[in-house]
Amino acid sequence: MAETIFSKIIRKEIPAEIVFENETVLAFKDIKPQAPVHVLIIPKDVIPSTREIIGSNHSKLLGDLFDATNKIANDLGISKDGFRLVINCGDNGGQEVYHLHMHLLGGRKLNWPPG
Ligand code: AMP
Repeated sequence: MAETIFSKIIRKEIPAEIVFENETVLAFKDIKPQAPVHVLIIPKDVIPSTREIIGSNHSKLLGDLFDATNKIANDLGISKDGFRLVINCGDNGGQEVYHLHMHLLGGRKLNWPPG
């Protein structure tokens, strides 16, 4: 599968403001933040999009991603007031980087519906 800039961040070949890391997950601040807190939470495995998340093959990874999300939200102080998790998928979903990632957004009241 094709690598993206996120593989370089995982390998620490380019800098990023990392807020969480374990064996399977990396999280770092988005370079163009859309809210006071905007973190990208990604699997270390190269998975292009949520379309490739298939059944039980990925159930542990999904748990790891959500465990990381809750820890980060607590650590960054946005858990109590709430936050939004976004996964863009494919062209219509507005996905730009084809390495699966969750946007964790918080620190202000977010609008709904999205554009
Ligand atoms: P998406 O449109 O869902 O694919 O989101 C890709 C996100 O990656 C955007 O919010 C970008 O601002 C962010 N991004 C791209 N390159 C970097 C980078 N080098 N470091 C941090 N965030 C990045």
